[in-house]
Amino acid sequence: MKILKVILCVLVFIVFFGVYIFNISGNISNNAIEGFKLPRIPASSSKVDVHLLKTGYITVPEAFSMAQGSLFKPFEMVHGAVLVKHGSSSFLFDTGLGKQIDKQFHLDMPFWSKPFMTYKKSTPAVDLIKNNPNLPLPNRIFLSHSHWDHASGLVDFPQANVWISSQEFDYLKTAKPPSVFPSQVNSKSIMWHSYQLNDGAYAGFDRSFDIFNDGSAVIVELSGHSPGSVGLFVNDKFGIRRFFIGDVVWNLSALDNLKRKSWAASLLLDHNENTTDNTILKLKALKDKNPDLKIIPAHDLSAWK
Ligand SMILES: [Zn+2]
Repeated sequence: MKILKVILCVLVFIVFFGVYIFNISGNISNNAIEGFKLPRIPASSSKVDVHLLKTGYITVPEAFSMAQGSLFKPFEMVHGAVLVKHGSSSFLFDTGLGKQIDKQFHLDMPFWSKPFMTYKKSTPAVDLIKNNPNLPLPNRIFLSHSHWDHASGLVDFPQANVWISSQEFDYLKTAKPPSVFPSQVNSKSIMWHSYQLNDGAYAGFDRSFDIFNDGSAVIVELSGHSPGSVGLFVNDKFGIRRFFIGDVVWNLSALDNLKRKSWAASLLLDHNENTTDNTILKLKALKDKNPDLKIIPAHDLSAWK
């Protein structure tokens, strides 16, 4: 049995890197989408602080993160959570790797994908917050999407309401490993809330949800990687404009070069390739139109620095 498992892992490995050797492009054709100018920074942003909490790392070949990346150039991936403070309120966008990640991974990650989905733990978000007297425990958590590396820490925040787009909530009912872990999302202690993105268009995205109703933190629909994936715009008190885009791309260079994830990662993890392609085109157009906007993929450590 062990031999069979090793053979299957080797086969997956060969397919994965064979794609590199046979140079499958992963190019996205440019449909010349017009980018939108961001709205003005609202006055309420003076109340907003953003903290990036790094909960884990892994170094992989660039070829894993992006189609036609180099096999020999390292790419540093981060797993993390974003804490947004808005006056006396606060929320977390994603949770990164939580306190129980090893147990969750052991229980739910299929054996054949374990070698490709490995991670190196750092400090879980809940401990980073508790160890810093300036950081509040969030009363809400929003998820970019429900995959295991974003939802692992949900159970560490039993006091928080967990908000998820209604499309992602529907997906969660049938989703399975290696994307979604039952050990993370089935806990009775999680207080789920689903929401609709009914606040109109924002920055070229048709549907949005304005978290504080003042334009300082706005969620937009970024479906493709999962059916209900979302991104988060945050305007902070220093005038920095960030856009957390979840897993639309893993590597920011993929946006500039209009590339998908590596073939195997895209096949395995992107729910709808065409919709993901369209979202990538939209993000590239937005980036070109707003050069001051910091676009931050969930796993590109260089964009987190
Ligand atoms: Zn991810």
